[in-house]
Amino acid sequence: MTGRLPMQFPSQDLPPRVRIHEVGPRDGLQNEKTVVPTEIKAEFIHRLADAGLSTVEATSFVRPDWVPQLADAEQLFPLLGDIAGVGLPVLVPNARGLERAVALGARRIAVFGSATETFAKRNLNRTIDESLAMFEPVVAKARADKIHVRGYLSMCFGDPWEGPVPVHQVVQVAKRLMDLGCDELSLGDTIGVATPGHVQSLLAELNEEGVPTSAIGVHFHDTYGQALSNTLAALQHGVTTVDASAGGLGGCPYAKSATGNLATEDLVWMLDGLGIETGVDLGRLTATSAWLAGHLGRPSPSRTVRALSHKES
Ligand code: MG
Repeated sequence: MTGRLPMQFPSQDLPPRVRIHEVGPRDGLQNEKTVVPTEIKAEFIHRLADAGLSTVEATSFVRPDWVPQLADAEQLFPLLGDIAGVGLPVLVPNARGLERAVALGARRIAVFGSATETFAKRNLNRTIDESLAMFEPVVAKARADKIHVRGYLSMCFGDPWEGPVPVHQVVQVAKRLMDLGCDELSLGDTIGVATPGHVQSLLAELNEEGVPTSAIGVHFHDTYGQALSNTLAALQHGVTTVDASAGGLGGCPYAKSATGNLATEDLVWMLDGLGIETGVDLGRLTATSAWLAGHLGRPSPSRTVRALSHKES
């Protein structure tokens, strides 16, 4: 590791600070075939916190037989109790998942919805209406317990079965998710087809319909190489929460060629260069992703991890 950093050229038109919502241990690992031992996951999350990430989505309380990689949520979560000052949200699919998470002391949860009927059916085995009805008591109970709730909305820019997804359709489902009482909305480009103008159109329409930019996070995939361009477009609109996955872990199992989540290192390289504060130490983060790639038995797909790990001769 060389400790290289980009030169800084701050812009007046961009937010001074961005909160990175790290999704590697949950969204990333969920889509990795090699099952990672619980102790390695715990060390991974500790190392991400040490690297300065303030939010690390830790695991998912789905039915253990649905996602074998995350079947150890009950064993993993208690191993994170000593991490102070870092938000450790967990995904909960339903009331049972919330119960399991709360029993272990989770204070931040996320529910996972879909902007399209086909993905709702395939991923949740429910219509959009039915899935929102399932989330309603989960969000209400969480809010009553003062637990922070993030609502994921997937397929916001395109759907592998339905093709293009109309902006107004996404906005309607987003509003319904927010109306349930979510504190935050994460807009997912699940198959990575978004482009910057599309991102800004969706954000503008959400604002027009009463969803404030301060409640919005963006979740881009780099399938078509657009993730950082889309991120910059979102920052120009005022978005200050960006999802990313350490080392570019994971992808979307429904998009065959998907290169997956925006890598946190690639994001931090850009934000560092723009003088935008994230609190993240790029060297520590890169070392962590290189270490985990060793456990997964393959190199990290992150360009920045590869560039910084390359020994200069
Ligand atoms: Mg993702």
